[in-house]
Amino acid sequence: MSDAQLASGDSATDLPRDSHSTYSLAIVGCGPRGLYCLESFARVFAQQSLAVPVVITIFEPSRDPGAGNIYAVDQPHFLRMNYANERIDAWRDCQERPKSNLSLVEWLERHHPTLANPDGYSPRAVVGEYLHDCFLQVCDQISESFVVKICRQKVTNVERLESMWKVSTEQDSILVHDVVVTVGHEGWRAPASLPPVDSKRFIKSVFPVDRQLSMACVPPGRRVAVRGFGLTWIDAALALTEGRGGHFVRQQGALCYKPSGAEPAAILPYSRTGRPMLAKPVKTRMTIPSQWDEIWKDGSRQISEVTRPIDQGAFWEKIWKQILDSAAAALQVTSPNAETSATISQWFEWWRTSNFDSRLTLNLMQQSVDVALGRIPPNAPFALGEAWRQLYPALINCINHGGLCEEAWPAFRQIEVEMERLAFGPPAENVRRILALEKVGVVDLSFVSGATLASDAASLRLVTPQNRSDVDLVINAVIPSPLETRSNGPIAAMFQRGILSRQNRHIGFDVDEKGGPTASTHSDAAGLTVFGRVTDGCILGNDTLSRQLHPEIENWAASIVPRLSSWKQRN
Ligand SMILES: Cc1cc2nc3c(=O)[nH]c(=O)nc-3n(C[C@H](O)[C@H](O)[C@H](O)COP(=O)(O)OP(=O)(O)OC[C@H]3O[C@@H](n4cnc5c(N)ncnc54)[C@H](O)[C@@H]3O)c2cc1C
Repeated sequence: MSDAQLASGDSATDLPRDSHSTYSLAIVGCGPRGLYCLESFARVFAQQSLAVPVVITIFEPSRDPGAGNIYAVDQPHFLRMNYANERIDAWRDCQERPKSNLSLVEWLERHHPTLANPDGYSPRAVVGEYLHDCFLQVCDQISESFVVKICRQKVTNVERLESMWKVSTEQDSILVHDVVVTVGHEGWRAPASLPPVDSKRFIKSVFPVDRQLSMACVPPGRRVAVRGFGLTWIDAALALTEGRGGHFVRQQGALCYKPSGAEPAAILPYSRTGRPMLAKPVKTRMTIPSQWDEIWKDGSRQISEVTRPIDQGAFWEKIWKQILDSAAAALQVTSPNAETSATISQWFEWWRTSNFDSRLTLNLMQQSVDVALGRIPPNAPFALGEAWRQLYPALINCINHGGLCEEAWPAFRQIEVEMERLAFGPPAENVRRILALEKVGVVDLSFVSGATLASDAASLRLVTPQNRSDVDLVINAVIPSPLETRSNGPIAAMFQRGILSRQNRHIGFDVDEKGGPTASTHSDAAGLTVFGRVTDGCILGNDTLSRQLHPEIENWAASIVPRLSSWKQRN
């Protein structure tokens, strides 16, 4: 299906009305997860040879469905993935997979051969091209079975209307039999709670960088504070440097930054703890002992045998202890004198409770790069991060859908936030870029922990007990938590009506194994499905491109077939 054909469904007035002759499905939000839903539904439908006329209406405000806004194809290429190429595959990996369903690496070999390194981290824009291509391919495959309409508008509300679901935009509404809501981050936005700084000196959000961090918004030569020290801060720092014509060159094994002159005078990140995100391993550079596979398998088995629901005691004694034991066992393979489970636990306690100064932060970042590139042997932070990555699928299985008691969630969240830093950090290349920027003084980590922002009409400054520094501007690089919904979006509207609810205040909305809302005050939420970030915790770690970790979309697609069959019999 061509873009021109896709555009034909643009007008909300074209949208299909309820009909007894046609089954209607709406997909609200078509980033990666909306694409996965479309593909799963189409595949399962084709396998069942159901002779039912179906209209699918896709609501997606951004230009390229499949890519959505996060993988927008027109964003600059210095914004890179935090997920290696080999892990990205928009298709379900199954035996009967057609040859035309290419994984990212196969697709890169054809379209961007210089990027087709399985261990590499591609620009997000390139991954967006891939995802949009996959979307067009699915549309092409289903064009004879279904009518697919694209509506490039934001949905504002989804509500029950008798036996149907009413999906509304600001301009219009349609009635559908089934609706699947995959709005992910709900577009670019800032958290509700921000420091009270006037808008002239405060940039609320980093994305899209072309607009938010343009030369006009952040003029060269200014001193810029950046709130937050996670992955978004790295994107902000690169946008203000590499994005302004500076470049990184390799000199005697080190990465060095050559400024363009258009950078800020200084970029000063500030955060509560200064704990950095550590580099992901470069597998081809590290020597990974073959015995590690058995260690991860055994650890995963132990975790999968823990009886649900898991209370706080069992979380510490069985789950967390297993992660520590697996990390220690892995280190013991590399060196018999390596750290034990107890010393790794002590290290983690130190990490979790310390505020790091700039020197320590830089050391930890550099060490993580050295381990990732195989220059030094694996250490405690690497082993813990690797254990978390490897045991994560088992963790998902035992925690999802109420596996962890409510009282155990604060303990789990405490661990999870640190393990994000150790296990799911940036590629080593990006940590090296930040280190290179620090070396030439463009990035200044003096306020990386424990700093507060003080502002009055005349000045803006970062303050610690030992230090203070005037800044001209502040950029917020903290994105809203999964629990913070967009106030004028469909998720907030469904929550207010009691269609979505959560019984456990530490996690996202409750859904079952097919993505259907549970604990809803509406007795009949049949036909409504919600996937993605807003269900975080009920479904652990689902804000990812991975299709392999979570079975819920496949379960939903399989469950819609009996619904379609019974609808057919009734009509
Ligand atoms: C800056 C950034 C970098 C990331 N990098 C990685 C990475 O390297 N690897 C990784 O695995 N994950 C990464 N992630 C996580 C990322 O969210 C997931 O990879 C993936 O995008 C989730 O897909 P999704 O479809 O659930 O959500 P999204 O990608 O957020 O897609 C949701 C879609 O819904 C649309 N939408 C929103 N509101 C409405 C509405 N009201 N009506 C209609 N449509 C709507 C949006 O336009 C969007 O296209 C990153 C996230 C961010 C923010």
